[in-house]
Amino acid sequence: MNYSIFKCLFCGYSAQVQGESYFDEGSYKVMQTKVCNGCKTLFEDLYDLPIEWVILNGKDPVSLSKALSLSPHHIGTGCLKCSKPSSTAWSKNKPVCPKCNKLMTLKYNGNLPSKD
Ligand SMILES: [Zn+2]
Ligand SMILES: [Zn+2]
Repeated sequence: MNYSIFKCLFCGYSAQVQGESYFDEGSYKVMQTKVCNGCKTLFEDLYDLPIEWVILNGKDPVSLSKALSLSPHHIGTGCLKCSKPSSTAWSKNKPVCPKCNKLMTLKYNGNLPSKD
């Protein structure tokens, strides 16, 4: 599993998020990095593909654009810290710090050590 850490060099805030939408082929879930409008922290929101589609096409690989075009159901719980439902999509292409609005730095980008 690929992962990345973004850190703000101005205020010290850091978060382990992907910074983009991506499709997890293992679980057939779409993840999207969001910033909570309540407590201003980054988190990964979760979407599920329509179950009918998974049954029909469960063994076929699916691209992210295809997955998003299937209007996945929102199943994320929102921000885990304050459970505010209100959030905004956040992209690594413009990694604005949710705390101080300066640009964050990609601190680490690689693979988690595998146990296999
Ligand atoms: Zn900051
Ligand atoms: Zn929050």
